[in-house]
Amino acid sequence: MDAFKYIFSWVLWPGLFAICMAVTAYGFVNDHPVLFFNFAYVFLIISLFFLEQWMPHEREWLKPDGQNIASILHTLSSKGTVQSLLIFGGAIGLADMIGTVRDEGYGLWPRDWPMAAQVALGVVAAEFALYWAHRIAHEIEFFWRFHAIHHSVTKLWFLNTGRFHFVDSLVSIVLGMAVLLALGAPIEVIKWLSAVTAFIGMLTHCNVEMRFGPLNWIFNTPGLHRWHHSKDLSEGNRNYGENIMLWDQLFGTYYNADYRPPVDIGIKEHMPARFMHQIAWPFLSHVSRKKIAPEYEPIPFEREPDSVFNFIFNRKDAKTRRD
Ligand SMILES: [Zn+2]
Ligand SMILES: [Zn+2]
Repeated sequence: MDAFKYIFSWVLWPGLFAICMAVTAYGFVNDHPVLFFNFAYVFLIISLFFLEQWMPHEREWLKPDGQNIASILHTLSSKGTVQSLLIFGGAIGLADMIGTVRDEGYGLWPRDWPMAAQVALGVVAAEFALYWAHRIAHEIEFFWRFHAIHHSVTKLWFLNTGRFHFVDSLVSIVLGMAVLLALGAPIEVIKWLSAVTAFIGMLTHCNVEMRFGPLNWIFNTPGLHRWHHSKDLSEGNRNYGENIMLWDQLFGTYYNADYRPPVDIGIKEHMPARFMHQIAWPFLSHVSRKKIAPEYEPIPFEREPDSVFNFIFNRKDAKTRRD
């Protein structure tokens, strides 16, 4: 790697994140937060697209995997589901109800704090729910059925960012929002949280050679998320945080080793290649699955923890580890 790329690898993650946040902040100040968020988001996508070609983390992951259409359709269907939930919430007056209560100063939320501090608090609070939604999705079989779609890819790149079964997205967004609404967070904080999650999520999946140093202790970086996509559950059932690593540190699931994360990522069980089959897959019995994919063989779920204590504090002897 030449000197120029080396320097780039250090400044890319903080630099891109800072640019996206600055553009979004400009939008908030000028009353067009959504428009400027979209500018920043498109800028990030285009930058990562070119950077992946120019300085990829794994050359192997540049090869096509036949999942582009499926990943795009999952992105659209899960985003669409979340949008319709918000519209439906508006239609039955839920948003107004919550809005009214909020305007009266309901909740513990410190509205007098500077906005940046409120956003930081919003991220920490929402992450508690996002952490547990994600962890449950890995360690309870029923939820894993849906989350397996995200993990079934064999390479990481920016296009996989939104590849979630819509039920999976729905569970985490409802839990994340519920925490913020229960605490009485203003709508501006919720908008900021959505923007931060979109930027960090897109960065997290990119296949660009980047270095993170101490940022790994605070944020969910691509370096940490590559462990999370490992087939080896002693590496893969770790780093559940979506934006920050605080809850992983507290609940014992933080992982960052000094060797290189695996190139061969994915899941051990079978996942059909087509979008519609993937959407139906979590709802199907073994018999129906076999009809779609004759090569399908059920394998025992090895992710379930053996006690509530181990589940919460992720003790080393929890059955989520595989030797
Ligand atoms: Zn996951
Ligand atoms: Zn991922």
